[in-house]
Amino acid sequence: MRALLQQAASRLHAIEDRLTVRTQIAAAVAAMSIVLVGTLAAGAALISYRHTATLIESSVAGIASSTSGRLDRFMATRQQEMKLFTELEPMQRLWQGDPNKLRSALEALQRNFEFTWIGFADLNGDVVASTGGLLQGKSVTARPWFKQGLEKVVVGDVHEAILLSSLLTQRANNEPYRFVDIALPVRDASGKVIGVLGGHLDWSWASSLIKDVEANDGNTDTRLSILSKSGMVLVGPQKETIRYDGDELAGILKAGDGTFREKVDGQQMLTAFHVGNGFRDYQGLNWIVTASQPASVALKAAISSAQMILAIGAVIALIALSLAVLVSRRIAGPIIALTQEADRIGRAHGPTMLARQSGSVEVVQLSRALRSLLRRIGHAEERTKEAELRASENAMQLQEDMLKLRELADTDFMTGLMNRRSFLAVADDAVAFSRRYKRNMATLMIDIDHFKKINDSHGHAAGDDAIKHVADVISQSIRTTDKAARFGGEEFVVLLREIDQEAAVLLADRIRTSIESAVVRHGEAVIPLTVSIGLALFDEGDRDVQDVIERADQGLYVAKKTGRNRTFLMPATEDRAARAA
Ligand code: GH3
Ligand code: MG
Ligand code: MG
Repeated sequence: MRALLQQAASRLHAIEDRLTVRTQIAAAVAAMSIVLVGTLAAGAALISYRHTATLIESSVAGIASSTSGRLDRFMATRQQEMKLFTELEPMQRLWQGDPNKLRSALEALQRNFEFTWIGFADLNGDVVASTGGLLQGKSVTARPWFKQGLEKVVVGDVHEAILLSSLLTQRANNEPYRFVDIALPVRDASGKVIGVLGGHLDWSWASSLIKDVEANDGNTDTRLSILSKSGMVLVGPQKETIRYDGDELAGILKAGDGTFREKVDGQQMLTAFHVGNGFRDYQGLNWIVTASQPASVALKAAISSAQMILAIGAVIALIALSLAVLVSRRIAGPIIALTQEADRIGRAHGPTMLARQSGSVEVVQLSRALRSLLRRIGHAEERTKEAELRASENAMQLQEDMLKLRELADTDFMTGLMNRRSFLAVADDAVAFSRRYKRNMATLMIDIDHFKKINDSHGHAAGDDAIKHVADVISQSIRTTDKAARFGGEEFVVLLREIDQEAAVLLADRIRTSIESAVVRHGEAVIPLTVSIGLALFDEGDRDVQDVIERADQGLYVAKKTGRNRTFLMPATEDRAARAA
């Protein structure tokens, strides 16, 4: 879970890194406003939808209940009229008097009220008098209204006219007569039951009532029906079929009124119902009045109000979105400008400055901080450059000094020739080379003759001049590949490369004769100068350069011994023989 969250967070960072501040601010504000406005609009739309739906439901329920009330009141009035009629004082004489007079009274009642047929039957069930004389003299003992009417006021539910239908004139649309019966006992002055007054109400008035309500409702989509308590349609579409039964019917009868949704012919309907429960004395027949509207029509207002709210929400969200874009542009503008400036400075050479930016406290502070940073960087850059320059100067000086020091360390101070240490290093390499490649090599050991005498007779400085003179002669006599060194005092060593015995002897002699023939002056004095030279050639038997130098030194010794101002070649064999001895 944690790993998953971390992965999501890193993915979010990766996305953020690819988005500009402007896009991020705009997206955040837009998302926020869309969620906010969307939630508010959806909530308001839902509330409005529910509210409107409730209103519509109660209005449909109102139609059902008012229609039911009208039905009940109509029936109650008819029942009241009949009752009033039996109790009228003048009627007391007529019940058991002249049937023709009774008939006239009954016909008057029929004219003033909406009965199709009214008749009076005596205790035997024979019709004594009736409107239009219909069924007069006939027995109605089998009719339920008569039997029950002997006891109390009864209202019989809608039924087809059994006895009357053949006697009544056909109706224009050929529809059979449907009647509702009202019957009640007739009593004489002493209160004794003397017969039953029965009236048949033509049920078509109910259809007219429904049509009247439907027409006045203003909503032509409302369909009204009247159902008997057994669920059969009395008035309305699919007449005389059972619309509700079982639990559904029981539920309706138990609730008394309410609304529900049902599917009729594949169409979703909002149906309100009201079960008639009488009015005053009238007990009621539990007729069920239903008012149905297609759910789409019924809830159209609710839906359209919700849609309106959503549309307003969408417009507000759109405005918020444009505002978000504007705000993000304003906020991000200075940051983008700063970034571009900083980028330009990053690429530029030399010190540079950032333009002042404004837009918010943070941007002003950032701009100020960057400017101060750039000033510091510029200063530091200048100092670094100075330091670099100084360092490179110092390094060059140091290198020069080093070279000088090395030269000093390698050369003899007085003559400028190599000193013993540096000579031996070079000579060692030369011996190794000669040995490996079988090349000739020779060394000369040169010593000034009777030098002590020069010092003694002309002074130490004159001696020094003599030493320098000899050194100059040696330097000029040898090739660049050859090396000469002052070994100490007035003694010199020369290394000759790539040279055979003959050439070596010639070169040594040339040095010797050059010194001899030159005139060395010191002040007024002329100093006569000769040297003795020992010569030795490299031999395979030599272990190192010291062996060769030592042999040359032996040659020098021989040269001194045999009269000075001469060169003596010290052969290797002798040397070896000497060593062996
Ligand atoms: P020989 O012919 O046998 O070589 O006799 P020599 O007098 O030259 O004897 P040697 O070579 O032994 O003498 C070396 C003398 O050189 C000893 C010392 O007083 C002198 N000497 C050594 N170094 C210097 C120097 O740097 N300058 C001067 N002026 N004299 C030096
Ligand atoms: Mg000497
Ligand atoms: Mg000497």
